[in-house]
Amino acid sequence: MASPLNAVITGSTSGIGLGIATGFAAEGWNIMLNGFGDPGEIEGVRAGLEDKYGVKVLYNGADMTKPEEIRNLIAEAETAFGQVDVLVNNAGIQHVSPVEDFPEAKWDAIIAINLTSAFHTTKAVFAGMKKRGFGRVINIASAHGLVASPFKSAYVAAKHGIVGFTKTIALEGAEHGVTCNAICPGYVKTPLVENQIADTAKARGISEESVVKDVMLGEQPTKKFVEVEEIAALAVFLCSESASSITGAAHQIDGGWVAH
Ligand code: NAD
Repeated sequence: MASPLNAVITGSTSGIGLGIATGFAAEGWNIMLNGFGDPGEIEGVRAGLEDKYGVKVLYNGADMTKPEEIRNLIAEAETAFGQVDVLVNNAGIQHVSPVEDFPEAKWDAIIAINLTSAFHTTKAVFAGMKKRGFGRVINIASAHGLVASPFKSAYVAAKHGIVGFTKTIALEGAEHGVTCNAICPGYVKTPLVENQIADTAKARGISEESVVKDVMLGEQPTKKFVEVEEIAALAVFLCSESASSITGAAHQIDGGWVAH
C-alpha cells in the first residue's frame, strides 16, 4: 500500500465527491479533482485543500461523456502522482420524468455519466493497480442501485448497472489486491438536492418543509439526510488494509431506506 495514497475522484467539485475529496485530503492523500463549475471557485477549492492539508491537489475538467478526455484525466494523474491507487467514480446527474416523455438525450447522458464513465476510468487504472498489487475502486451508486422509484428510469438503470459492474471488477481484481465496492447513499443534502426542494415544492404546491419530510425523507426511516462526511468516512475505510476482504459489495448508507 503506497503512502500517501493517490486518488482520482470524478465529479468532485461539489456535493458527495467534494466531501470524499476532503476526507481523503484529511488523510494526507494526493487528490485529482474533476467536475464542472466556476473556474475561480474550483481553483479556490483546489488551493484551499492543498493549503489546509499539505497534500498535492490537481484539477482536470474532463467531461465524463467523453472517453478521450477521461483517458487524459487518468494519464495526467498518473504522470503527476506516479500512480493512481484509489479511483472513486462519483460523477452523476439526474432527470425526473415519466418514461413516455423521457428525453432520449437525457437517457444517453445519464447512462454515459453515471455508468459508462466508470468503465473508461476503471479500464485506464486497472492494469497498474493489478501490477502493483493494490488498488481501490469505489463506485458511488445509490439506494436506486438496489430499489427503484418511478420517473427515474435512466438513473435507476444506470445505478443498478454500476452495482453489477462493481461485482465484475471485484472478481477481476480479487487475486491482485484490488477491491471494488459500491456505496449506495439515500438522500444527501447536496446543492443539487437543495435545488430540488424549492422546485418540488412549487410543482406540488406544498411547503418546502413538506417536501423534505414527506417526499424526500418519506423513504428514510431515520428521517434525516445522510451527511457527505459519513460517506467520506466509509470511503476512507474501504481504502484501508482492514477492508481488503470487503469487495464486490453494495454498501447501503441510506438511513434504513432499503431495509423496508
Ligand atoms: P452534485 O450535483 O452536487 O455533484 C455532481 C458532480 O458531478 C459535480 O461535481 C458535477 O460538476 C459533476 N458532473 C456532472 N456532470 C459531469 C460530467 N459530464 N463530467 C464530469 N463531471 C460531471 O451531486 P451529488 O448529489 O454530490 O451526486 C454525486 C453522486 O452521488 C452521483 O453519482 C449521484 O447519483 C450520487 N448520489 C447522490 C445522492 C443524493 O441524494 N445527493 C444519493 C445517492 C447517490
